[in-house]
Amino acid sequence: MTNFDTNLVHGVCCSDNNTGAVNVPIYNSSTYVYQSADAKVKWDYARSGNPTRAFLEEQIALLEGGTRGFAFSSGLAAIHAAFAIFEPGDHVIIGDKIYGGTFRLVNQYFKKWQLEFTTVDTQDAAAVEAAIKPNTKAIYFETFTNPLLRVTSVKAIAEIAKQHHLLTIVDNTFLTPYLQQPLKLGADIVIHSATKYLGGHSDVIAGLVVVEEAELGEKIYFSQNALGGVLSPEDSNLIRRGIQTLGVRMDRHLANAAKIVDFLTKRSEIAKVYYPGIEGSVDHEIAQKECRGFGGIVSFDLAAAIDSKAFVERLNLFKLAVSLGAVESLVELPYKMSHAELSAADLQDCGISTQLIRLSVGIEDAQDLIGDLAQALDSFKK
Ligand SMILES: *Cc1c(COP(=O)(O)O)cnc(C)c1O
Repeated sequence: MTNFDTNLVHGVCCSDNNTGAVNVPIYNSSTYVYQSADAKVKWDYARSGNPTRAFLEEQIALLEGGTRGFAFSSGLAAIHAAFAIFEPGDHVIIGDKIYGGTFRLVNQYFKKWQLEFTTVDTQDAAAVEAAIKPNTKAIYFETFTNPLLRVTSVKAIAEIAKQHHLLTIVDNTFLTPYLQQPLKLGADIVIHSATKYLGGHSDVIAGLVVVEEAELGEKIYFSQNALGGVLSPEDSNLIRRGIQTLGVRMDRHLANAAKIVDFLTKRSEIAKVYYPGIEGSVDHEIAQKECRGFGGIVSFDLAAAIDSKAFVERLNLFKLAVSLGAVESLVELPYKMSHAELSAADLQDCGISTQLIRLSVGIEDAQDLIGDLAQALDSFKK
């Protein structure tokens, strides 16, 4: 068995064609010929299965240490398919700072179908345990929260879940299997918005689910085929290709993020930096034990004297945009952009002030990125 970085490139072998092509072809076929009317065919219709998509599904299953992967047309389609395995009346505990789109899916969609939810700070294992009810079926969270990078221990939650026969579901978008493999820490279902680091180039919307246990795999497959939010062959190929460079991209994201954190913590215009790599917090302690690195997202509070809107608009290399995880650096103002749907009270509850800035650190030259931040900060000096 080869190691992770080799598996990124060669993990799943491409041997189903006679051309010698080193990559799986993009199979643009919605249907497949039966050799006879009663033939037992592997492929019959492309919603149910497509060889290009299947390659990506095997690739992500291998990298996450699972047995089956499933590719969807978006991260939210993946999350929809995962929640769709539950029955009306089931109760799910969800992290209180999960991705806004997931929160909307749960509150404005699944509640109508009689799923019950309780939001809990999943860093607090005792609070999670206290929220368990007789009809609880699962605990759902993101290891690093957005945008403040609070860290939850997958091990701690999975332990509680196992004691109570609950599923542990982890959205691993921020970390990717390069930095954490939740199944190996006891999780049952891993979900990705592959739109972010796995794709890595801001050119495709995609989602993935991985499981280890066979029966769970059947349930997710049923959801995928029945709901139909599958990933196209072209987009499956883009994510497949993105995954091959995940390791080298992630190493640069990590190195650049560390340098930027170092720069920001020394500037008087910055009131606070949020990054799990900074020592002295519970977040750092957990991340150090369970992750191979601290990620490429860095958030910070600007000092009160700095106009946050003017600051983000004065950056040049950091493009002003939501989303994250791609080769180019992005900056956003959460209270006006990614978290604009939250009420003033909810923003305050989440710790998102009008001074909070989120960076998705790209793979450019670190000096250039720091130079861009420096010129924007310097522009506020009289
Ligand atoms: C972006 C994101 C999603 C949603 O994924 P889409 O591909 O946009 O549908 C879910 N979870 C997290 C953590 C995300 O960042």
